[in-house]
Amino acid sequence: MEPLLQVRDLTIRYRSAGPAEGRAVEGVSLDVARGEVVGVMGESGSGKSSIALALLGLLSKDCAEVSGSAVFRGEDLLSMNERLLQRVRGAGISMVYQEPGMALSPVMRAGMQIAEVIHAHREMSWKEATSEALTLLARVGLPSTDRIFSAYPHQLSGGQLQRVALAQGLACGPALLIADEPTASLDARSQSEFVSLLRELNQSSQISLLLISHTPEIQASLADRILVMKDGRIVDQGSFDRLYSHPSHPCTSALLRRNRSAIGHENPQSENAAHEQFTP
Ligand code: ADP
Ligand code: MG
Repeated sequence: MEPLLQVRDLTIRYRSAGPAEGRAVEGVSLDVARGEVVGVMGESGSGKSSIALALLGLLSKDCAEVSGSAVFRGEDLLSMNERLLQRVRGAGISMVYQEPGMALSPVMRAGMQIAEVIHAHREMSWKEATSEALTLLARVGLPSTDRIFSAYPHQLSGGQLQRVALAQGLACGPALLIADEPTASLDARSQSEFVSLLRELNQSSQISLLLISHTPEIQASLADRILVMKDGRIVDQGSFDRLYSHPSHPCTSALLRRNRSAIGHENPQSENAAHEQFTP
């Protein structure tokens, strides 16, 4: 079966990078099948977010040179004009950021931000869009949807905000969700709830996920396959179990171990739970 997304030889060079800095992403190829969860791990600066931005057409020509191809449902995202990209964003691919504030305006009620997307892109009346927004708030597991709908972002917790941002991302029924460190700003409990929510969405609606996260527990519980990046390249890939038991690059084991002990310092209980669950 043809993959939903087929990236070939993606290379990104920021124009502001000095001659010594080289390319942010170098010859990356990856596939995402329908319903598949592909994890991306790698130390800070290894090029993970740059890939996400390039796929959504958010790296302007003035800012970066992007080459290669990224075929999504038969069309190359990297050669699309802005008008076509706007059609893909939201309805084909949407993105959840580390900081939910990135996607939300501070001066507009949370629910209206979702309703606005629905009204603009799905030819629904405001009344229908409002009711659909409430349905989406419930779908992402938020209780008392009326209250959340009317709240301003600063009145909501980090976990609630990330769910609102996710509901907005789902508003146009994307086939692929790119999540860039979606739980990094959340406390331990909201993290694990958000991970369960992503799993449930993936399973119930076959939405594919490109999941950028440096947390091994999250990758282990969600990703069908994990790509390990270093200095802009993919240096290892496979299932979590394969990477854990037979890493083929020193970076892989360093990433899995270092983060595991970092989590242990913050929350020894979750460390132990993760260990029982994932140690082969
Ligand atoms: P990651 O998400 O894995 O931390 P990034 O994709 O953000 O990595 O960054 C990859 C490389 O590109 C890093 O060396 C970073 O400094 C550089 N970089 C990222 N954004 C820009 C930018 N707007 N201008 C110049 N260099 C950038
Ligand atoms: Mg990043």
